[in-house]
This record gives sequence, structure tokens and C-alpha cells, in this order.
Amino acid sequence: MNRLSDSLYSAIYPRLPVTAQNWACTIGGWTRYQQRFTEHFRRTLNAWEESMAWPAERLHELQRTRLDRLVRIARNAVPYYRDLPEPSSKRDPVEAMRELLHQIPPLEKRAYRDQPRAFISRDVPRRRLRSSQTSGTTGTALPLWYSPETLAEEYASVWRMRRRVGVDTDDPQISFNGQIIVPIAQPDPPFWRTNFHTRQTLFSIYHMTPANLRAYIDALHATPARYMQGYPSSMHLVALALLEAGRPLPKGRLAGVFTSSESLLAFQRETIEKAFGAPILDRYGVSEFAVSMTECEAHRLHVDMEYCIVEVETTEETDSYETGPLLITALAHDATPLFRYRIGDVGTRAKHPCPCGRAGDSFFEVDGRIEDYVLTPDGRLVGRMDHVFKDQLEVAEAQILQSDPRAILLLIVPRADYSDASERGVVRQIRSRLGPEIDVRIELVNSIPREPNGKFRAVKSEVGRNAP
Ligand SMILES: [Zn+2]
Repeated sequence: MNRLSDSLYSAIYPRLPVTAQNWACTIGGWTRYQQRFTEHFRRTLNAWEESMAWPAERLHELQRTRLDRLVRIARNAVPYYRDLPEPSSKRDPVEAMRELLHQIPPLEKRAYRDQPRAFISRDVPRRRLRSSQTSGTTGTALPLWYSPETLAEEYASVWRMRRRVGVDTDDPQISFNGQIIVPIAQPDPPFWRTNFHTRQTLFSIYHMTPANLRAYIDALHATPARYMQGYPSSMHLVALALLEAGRPLPKGRLAGVFTSSESLLAFQRETIEKAFGAPILDRYGVSEFAVSMTECEAHRLHVDMEYCIVEVETTEETDSYETGPLLITALAHDATPLFRYRIGDVGTRAKHPCPCGRAGDSFFEVDGRIEDYVLTPDGRLVGRMDHVFKDQLEVAEAQILQSDPRAILLLIVPRADYSDASERGVVRQIRSRLGPEIDVRIELVNSIPREPNGKFRAVKSEVGRNAP
């Protein structure tokens, strides 16, 4: 959706009756389904379900072929990468990839932000180019372009993992995601909407007061679903409510729970699995379509080798692991190739093969998606506040600070075109999630300090912390 239809949508949708909102969710769901589950998706999924059993050598051959192809595209058709080195002639695929990649300097987000259009491949016809934005986990949004094939391959990696627990694209499901599907001012249930097309029940993550959560419990028991997906922080709050009420879902009702977008914390996993009676499989992906890691039964995150190359800039190392910032090379991104992109997350890569038997790189953990909740005056805990800045291209960086449930302080690093209108836009977005009562103070600053480990945190709250 472009920005005009986005703002039209947010003006009209909240005024519709619930039935019409359900139909709007259905149309949205139908559109997403058509875009994701294409013929290319089916073909890729089939191929990758097969290659998942390949030995490392064969996966490296495949990576090398895909990397070399992308380098050729980039040299010919991507202005930013005109001077990229040629693919290596070395025979061994691992050595060839290393030789090539080490000649390419890491790509900083800043370099991409300064001239994003220089990354668009002239090979992809304009009509095939889709656009979106990053969700801005570092408090800033970047414009993105991708081809239908990239989106299909992203979802092939998602569904290869999901199908392992026996669910498929047409199964009924429950979701806890960031869209505002229930108007924030709505005081009574239903705090969920239905997409009839794929039998998806979308629960609001913005209405979770202790009183409202009682309605969530009844609705979850009444909703037919085979799996659940969404933000761990939100599912964790609902899981606590289910357990406190002594009403967990019967074991086996759901085949699996799929978390993404935030780091899944250990206490969240335990509570969610207990309350929903199903195992969690976590996935690490980013809105740039540049990386995908999927969890196995042994609780490691396996790099989807067909989809990306992940390098670690090692800062700490033992016999069994190495830890450091990640550099990611997107093998599926033919519209805007990204090589050695410094994504801003830190990972710990295993040095020994995973006991599950799957070959290729695997990680013990990827850190950097931990976000605090904001606590509202009426007692709601709201996560994923970085979405507030998703459409704010005039904001270079932002951070929400909270020391009192009645107020938040917003630090903003403005870009040159920041104006009063930008500020009103930010406040509107904040109010749409946190409600009209909370006091919002804005301070324009030159920079936002990092955490001791160098990580940026979009939300720091002393009262709404990620408390177990
Ligand atoms: Zn494994």
C-alpha cells in the first residue's frame, strides 16, 4: 500500500462496524495470500524441502551459484555496486565465497539510507517492483524495493519450517501482530477480527488490560486454529492470563506456535508453551528480506543457506562458539541486492554441527530484538512501539523513555525535513497505540546513546519492563 491509501485506510477503518472490519481484514488477508503463495513459492518450497537434507558441501555449491549470479546482476544493473569485484575463479565454493566477500566492504545502514535508489537493479522492470519500508527496529524506517520472487522465497523459508510440525498455508490460525485491527478507543470485546479467507483470527495486541484479557481467554478457547503466530511479548501476556485463570489450551489443540520479530526470551518460551500446549519454533528474519534463520527441535537457529549468507564479526570466541555483529548477504534479493549488510544484530554461531542433523551454519542465539513494553495509565502493556516510526522518514532515530506510567519522553534525532507536521504525525501514531491519557513529551536531540554492548534500544521503560 502506498502512503495515501495507508492514511485513507487509517481514517476510514476505525469508523466501520465490526462486520465491515472483518471483511476489510479478509480482503487484506486475501491480497497477502495472493502475493505470497505464488507458483514461484510452491516451486521454491519443494526445492528447499529437498535441499534441507543436503550435506554442507552441496549447500555451499548452491550458495556460491546464487552469490555469483547476484554479483553479476549487481555489477551490470545496480548503480551502487558498479565497481563490485568479479566472482572468484577458485574451485572450492567456501574459499571462492570468502575471497569475493572479503573484497566487498560491509554495507552500513547509513550508506543505504543516504541513497536507497542507487541499490535498485535496472534489470527488474518497474511494474514488477514492490515497495515497502523497514519496521524501523532502530527507530528509523528505510524504504525498500523487492520483486515478487523475493517475497515468495522469504515465505518458502517460513513455510519450510512450519510444515515440519504438520501445518500448511490453508490451516486456520491465530495471530498476534502489530497492525491496529481493533480501534484503540473500543472499550468492550471483541478485541479480535476475522480474516475469513484463511480462517485467521487476528487478536489486538493493544487492548491487553487485566480486565480485557478475560475476554481473550474465552475467545482463544472458542477459536478453531491449528497454529498461532506473532510477537512473543504479546503472546506471553496472554499466556500468563491463561495460566493465572487455570485455563490453558488443551495440549495438542495447536500443532505449533511461531514467534518472530523480537527476541524470544527463555521465560516467554516456557510460559507460552505451557499455556498453549504446543511447541514454539522461532524464526529470525528482517523486513529487508536479507536473512532467515529457522529453529529446529534442538533449539538452534539454522541459517536458511539457500536464502542468505551470514558472517560474524567475531568479538568473542571459544572452542564451541563465536559471537559478534552479523553481516548478511541476501541471496534472494534480486531487485535491491545487499552484500555484507551490517544489520545491527549480534549473534552467537555454533562451531560444531547441530545434533538435529541439519547441515550448514547454526546459531545458539541472535540478540538485539529485545524491546521493553510501555505501561499505559490504564494498565496496558504495549510492545513493538518501534512501529510508531515506521512511516516517519523525517525521523533519523528515536527512543521512548518511561519512568512513570502516566508519561513518556520521546527523544528524536530529526532529519533536515523534520517539521511541525512530522511531530504531529509522531504524536498521532503514539496516541493511536497508547491512548489519549498518557503525557507525551518530545525532545529533539543530536544523537541517542547506545547500550554498553553497542545495541540500540527503541524503548527503555523502568515501569513496563519485559518482566516475567
Ligand atoms: Zn538443528
